[in-house]
Amino acid sequence: MSVTTAVLGFPRIGAQRQLKKTLEAYWAGKASAEELQQTAATLRKTHWQAIQQAGVTYVPSNDFSFYDHVLDTAVTLGVVPARYKQIQDPLKRFFAMARGRQDPANGVDIPALEMTKWFDTNYHYIVPELAPDQAFAFDPKKIVDEFTEARKLGIETRPVILGPVSFLLLSKVANTDKTHVAPLDLLPKLLPVYTEIFKALKDLGVAWIQLDEPTLVLELDEKAKAAFRSTLQQVAGLSARPNIALTTYFGPLAENLELVPNNGFEALHIDLVRAPEQLAPVLSWIGAKTKLSVGVVDGRNIWRNDVDASLALVNQATKALGADRVIVASSCSLLHSPVDLTIEDKLDKNLVTWLAFAKQKVEELGVLAEASTQKEPTSPAFLAARAAIQNRRDSALTKNAAVRERMKAVTSKMHDRAGAFSARAEVQRNRFKLPAFPTTTIGSFPQTADVRTIRADWRAGKVDQEAYNRFLQTEIKDCVKRQEDLDIDVLVHGEFERTDMVEYFGEKLEGFAFTKNGWVQSYGSRCVKPPVLFGDVYRRFPMTVSWSKYAQSLTNRPMKGMLTGPVTILQWSFVRNDQPRSQTCQQIALAIRDEVNDLEAAGIPMIQVDEPALREGLPLRKRDWEAYLKWSVDAFKLSTSGVENKTQIHTHMCYSEFGDILPAVARLDADVLSIETSRSHMELLGDFGKFSYPNEVGPGVYDIHSPRVPSVDEMTDLLAKALKVLPAELLWVNPDCGLKTRGWEEVTTALKNMVSSAKIMRKRVEA
Ligand code: GLN
Ligand code: ZN
Repeated sequence: MSVTTAVLGFPRIGAQRQLKKTLEAYWAGKASAEELQQTAATLRKTHWQAIQQAGVTYVPSNDFSFYDHVLDTAVTLGVVPARYKQIQDPLKRFFAMARGRQDPANGVDIPALEMTKWFDTNYHYIVPELAPDQAFAFDPKKIVDEFTEARKLGIETRPVILGPVSFLLLSKVANTDKTHVAPLDLLPKLLPVYTEIFKALKDLGVAWIQLDEPTLVLELDEKAKAAFRSTLQQVAGLSARPNIALTTYFGPLAENLELVPNNGFEALHIDLVRAPEQLAPVLSWIGAKTKLSVGVVDGRNIWRNDVDASLALVNQATKALGADRVIVASSCSLLHSPVDLTIEDKLDKNLVTWLAFAKQKVEELGVLAEASTQKEPTSPAFLAARAAIQNRRDSALTKNAAVRERMKAVTSKMHDRAGAFSARAEVQRNRFKLPAFPTTTIGSFPQTADVRTIRADWRAGKVDQEAYNRFLQTEIKDCVKRQEDLDIDVLVHGEFERTDMVEYFGEKLEGFAFTKNGWVQSYGSRCVKPPVLFGDVYRRFPMTVSWSKYAQSLTNRPMKGMLTGPVTILQWSFVRNDQPRSQTCQQIALAIRDEVNDLEAAGIPMIQVDEPALREGLPLRKRDWEAYLKWSVDAFKLSTSGVENKTQIHTHMCYSEFGDILPAVARLDADVLSIETSRSHMELLGDFGKFSYPNEVGPGVYDIHSPRVPSVDEMTDLLAKALKVLPAELLWVNPDCGLKTRGWEEVTTALKNMVSSAKIMRKRVEA
């Protein structure tokens, strides 16, 4: 017997983003439900066949989703909040939970469920909302149908299911004033449904399931530990169930290993890309009946596998356990990597040999499995991979002497503004003379089909630079005019020149490369195409100054310059893995510092440096936080501290869990911070009150992730809530995030309502 192989999940979106396109057509009423189902079935089939043809032993099913697999799990478990139950059609109900639903003709106006980051990735999941008295019920449709669908194609799959403890830990309970139920309190009611699922799958003839319990790599409190201990014991002991591969990823099991019953499951999967050091302890712990699935092919990055390093890990496992107890696997689902490298024909010839996307990663599994049977690997594929790794190590493409000199010259003084916040605030108050509750937006305005078409034509060489610039100027002019008409206080130019807040800067900086189709799913139909950060980073020319200057020339109101911060550029790129991330981040920070200083010199009075990804960069275990927060906060400060007191630095972050990093956020020392709060009804502001956040804050009052238009009352209520914890003189009024994915009509009405609620608040505070 030799080792087997496993893929933990495959990207759903399609090599050409077919799913995105059909979903959006369906939402717009331009594609039928049948067409949507057809596209999905074709994608599933293509992916299953690609994995099967690569010779992979364990092919996943139920990893596909129309929006998000956590939401799928909620539906499978019957977790559908009452307000969505009036919607009869299951597909419409599903999308209502994901995106909200407004149907004024029929009096329907239901907000979406909350959404948040999936661990430390840039994928977002829908947070299941449990009632305090939640009842669960198995809805077999999706998991059974997908398994059967694959079986009809002759492929026996290993269905993926998010496990019960992780499901609850990722959920929240909609408590009332009278209830205080924690998600884990519902475990006794939930477990029977999992038992039912396992039995149904067993009856169907499912041989293996992949039971994902990724929260096993987190720091768990005693309650969660106890939940894991008893649940895993119970599940392991069930007689009517398929074989279970208990799956962990994104970090080491470490102290949580003891929560897993030894010999309880037929396989255990561990992530050896993130935590290779856990192999030895797991090998000495693992029981004789359990196979070990070694995640050595990185599901989170695009670098070609360092086959010698991986093979050493695989061999270490086979030596200890015997080949038939070792499964060579992707570190996590391949959801976080793009689909297919072979369609990339524009990349540097050298660089392309250093990369692997999902399809190539699937093939790497077989290469490693084969090599593990040999004394000396001989396959051409293995040798080619080895040569590519060596070529990358020796390449001059990745190194720049001037950058390295500049890094050595960075001093601690370069990380601090000239004056303290109080001194700056005074200078800025006199300079800007803004009303109370000043209104602003986060930066981008709707990217209409027009904007996207002209950009595509310009990229294709069909529209020349001058015509493109003129077009963008017209857009900016129109956008500034609209904001003035809406009576917004602090304006933005609209970011029409950017497809994406990281790609735009990556394209202008040295050290980055771009793929044509390297898309990964961010949430729902939203995909991002992260740049490939392969070499030392520096800035050759100003990147945004001319647009901001033009926009400021059109108005007397202050114009905010718009930049993406170093941590976010790092976090949303595929980052080189041949030097510490902290060093790469400092290189980006120096480049952004140059841009911030140039904006100030060009007369731009406010500069927003967005850091929406600061939080998601946090290591999953708290013990590693301090080191990360030190270098990431330093990078932000290095980029923003070269300006005078009169220049107002804004930053923006789009998530709603701040409590635990608020001291670090305060250390950024931005003059104004805008954040996401509307979906969670200002819950996070409690943290701001407790910590007494020192600088100015704009808690988002308009949820831009949904097409729903919030009313004046709704936003006024949110502001009133904010006012309970923050002093009026620190409060700003703004949406949750940028508006580029929205349409002009909804945006105009929503912003009009927003400005009205700010004016109502001004009156209230005066009175
Ligand atoms: N300035 C960016 C925009 O408005 C911020 C986006 C974000 O935070 N994700 O689009
Ligand atoms: Zn945002």
